[in-house]
Amino acid sequence: MTATRTPGLPVVEDGLLISTSPATGAEAGRVPVADLAAVAAAMRRARIAAAWWAGLGFDERKVRLLRWRALLAERVEELAALTHLETGKPEADAIVEALAAIEHTDWAARNAKRVLGPRRVKSRLVVAEHAGHLEYQPYGVVGVIGPWNYPILTPLGPIGGALAAGNAVVFKPSEYTPAVGQWLVDTFAEIVPEQPVLQAVHGLGDVGALLCRSGVNKLAFTGSTATAKKVMAACAETLTPVIIEAGGKDALIVDADADVAAAAEAAVWGSMTNAGQTCIGIERAYAVASVYDAFVAAVVEKAGKLKVGEEIGPITMPGQIDIIRRHIDDALAAGGRAVLGGAEAVQPPHVSPTVLVDVPETSSAIREETFGPTLTITKVADADEAVAKANALPYGLGGAVFGKANGIRIARRLRAGMVAVNSTLTFVGVATLPFGGVGDSGFGRIHGEDGLREFGRAKAITVRRGPSLLPAMTFERTPAQVQRIVKTLKLLYARRP
Ligand code: NDP
Repeated sequence: MTATRTPGLPVVEDGLLISTSPATGAEAGRVPVADLAAVAAAMRRARIAAAWWAGLGFDERKVRLLRWRALLAERVEELAALTHLETGKPEADAIVEALAAIEHTDWAARNAKRVLGPRRVKSRLVVAEHAGHLEYQPYGVVGVIGPWNYPILTPLGPIGGALAAGNAVVFKPSEYTPAVGQWLVDTFAEIVPEQPVLQAVHGLGDVGALLCRSGVNKLAFTGSTATAKKVMAACAETLTPVIIEAGGKDALIVDADADVAAAAEAAVWGSMTNAGQTCIGIERAYAVASVYDAFVAAVVEKAGKLKVGEEIGPITMPGQIDIIRRHIDDALAAGGRAVLGGAEAVQPPHVSPTVLVDVPETSSAIREETFGPTLTITKVADADEAVAKANALPYGLGGAVFGKANGIRIARRLRAGMVAVNSTLTFVGVATLPFGGVGDSGFGRIHGEDGLREFGRAKAITVRRGPSLLPAMTFERTPAQVQRIVKTLKLLYARRP
């Protein structure tokens, strides 16, 4: 039976989900597949765990989360080896991924109390007798659905935020990376054995759909735009709020005054790391005419040196190969040229670095998420044309700008949730900054203060501390008091600026 398995393609046998290495076909892990009853049971346990976890308070949770963070750091090689086995990505890339995840977990643990904890809020003159109190209370149970391409970092963003905010989490890892997902859950249970505060439910997409309908109080989804729509539709049935982190087609702009060598280095990293299977991967570059030739030459030179099978791992999801091949073929058929790689670059399970030029903006290689080690480079007259082209797609996740005088100005104009100036992808590792997209790339934020606030409901409390000067909200107000309200209102607000 094992001999007929496609490397990397997960199978379900005897109620177990078995994942395999896309490079070798070696088994990566096996976990039980959840059904409706199992998801419901996980939810019942999670409700009890959520009450216990919330009751611990910020300080106790912080200690436990920092202990977990320490465990993740201590055993990072083990986690990276498992991630390498299950996704095919180089271990060094898995270490970098884990570093970012650990960074976010640490920051969320340390800052949750400050960002979400109870605080006094100044009230205004007309209600001066009431003190304002604000706090962000946990939702209860948060569902997290994650993809396979960054199986440590993408779930740990929402999981870390949700846990720090005081929620329990039920996590559905991608069917391609259940072993990494289970490892995260098991290590958390080593640190927090009292209650199943973080649980996993495994299976194919239908288990994700079950989780959407399970009664979770909020759901954080990371995956494709198409699945995001299904998730939202399922969550709409119960008015369950969602965060959507979906796909992208991120652009890099190289302005006339850019450091071309640095731009090329970053473009190659941004487009080829993780074999291009990166939601915020650079898939399109727009270089102004004066630097175009030098930029193309530098990218080709650097990308051509990458070693397939070492720096460029296999394509994790076997089905993705067909999409990458179609995009390359489409680009070439429409008049594009491969200045590196090309149709013959697709040698399953690997795709070698491919750089395409002269590709029409209507081509699927420009318009659709490729998720492979490919990059299109387009010549533009100036930064304005680059911005217009970069912004022309429904996606709006991340992006990058290389340039000196106008880098930040151009970054502001990009229709994207995050932009790196003079680097690529770096915003994902900055724990103090929010992460998330616009348009087809989703909404809601993970990471940073905005990310923490997604996992707490704002709770407003007023406390009366004296008699009302302007007793507006009572049937017992007198006509004279109403006159006083009118006078005050006009004094405060009738003056036009
Ligand atoms: P999918 O959308 O195919 O799957 C994402 C998750 O949803 C998986 O766990 C999947 O389970 C599950 N799922 C599938 N069908 C349903 C359903 N009907 N209801 C609920 N859950 C379901 O995405 P991929 O795993 O292929 O991930 C790649 C995509 O993720 C790319 O588009 C990429 O850009 C995006 N992404 C976005 C990021 C961001 O932060 N914006 C970060 C990383 C990736 P199963 O795997 O078992 O089918």
